[in-house]
Amino acid sequence: MNIQKGLALMNEEASIIEKLQVVYEEVPSGHCEGCLKCCTESVNTFFVEYVNILRFLTDYPQIIEAHAEKISRFFLLEMMESMYCPFVDDRGRCAIYPVRPLPCRVFGHLNVEDYQDNYEKVLASNEALAEYYQTTYGLTLPEEVVHRKIPHCKSFISDGGLTIDDRDDMVDLLFSLDSKFLMHGCITFEEVNQSLITWFIKQVMPLEEAGDLRIQAMQSKQSGDERGLESLIEKATYKINNCFANLCKR
Ligand code: SF4
Ligand code: SF4
Repeated sequence: MNIQKGLALMNEEASIIEKLQVVYEEVPSGHCEGCLKCCTESVNTFFVEYVNILRFLTDYPQIIEAHAEKISRFFLLEMMESMYCPFVDDRGRCAIYPVRPLPCRVFGHLNVEDYQDNYEKVLASNEALAEYYQTTYGLTLPEEVVHRKIPHCKSFISDGGLTIDDRDDMVDLLFSLDSKFLMHGCITFEEVNQSLITWFIKQVMPLEEAGDLRIQAMQSKQSGDERGLESLIEKATYKINNCFANLCKR
């Protein structure tokens, strides 16, 4: 990922941000109770959305300062603990609400069948990960994480219908925006549509280093080494703060 190139392309081509806004505006409005039950994961995010979030955060650097430690902890321990999305703020609201990614915008609109279909895919992926961590590192992922189920939302009142086909059309449009970044060498094909927190971590340190840090943190958590765990979280938090301080200076 080359974030500087991504930011430059977004600044040069105003149509990219305009098209992103058009996609977001296609999501019908609705009434959300703000219970936060759906804000318990790092949602899949296209690069164009991530660059949009970064632009927002460089205008509000205090958000990164307030959330860097939560981002670190989430990345290092998301497979060992159930946690809220690190962008939930102290008042229980989304700190990046104006630029939140598409899955956050459509969640309440999904009907129960579409929701169940999605859950089964997530469950299969978590079970495969649990086996991988057990056989490769001797790490036992907690049941509550492997079988975590974000409840289907019954409280959200949608102002308009949104089918799974509508959602998929929006995803296709975001993919086509990401293809511009692909063509300009800002990202590779494998990087398209990753979790929001993975984008952040990849920006601040090489993926291999992040992976090592994560395994060490999971091992510390499993063995009850609180001091070791806190120092790993501190290390990642320092890197995030440092990286964003430099980004904001440019
Ligand atoms: S969309 Fe539903 S689950 Fe999510 S915060 Fe709103 S009411 Fe709660
Ligand atoms: S980005 Fe905001 S809306 Fe999306 S899961 Fe996180 S806190 Fe919730």
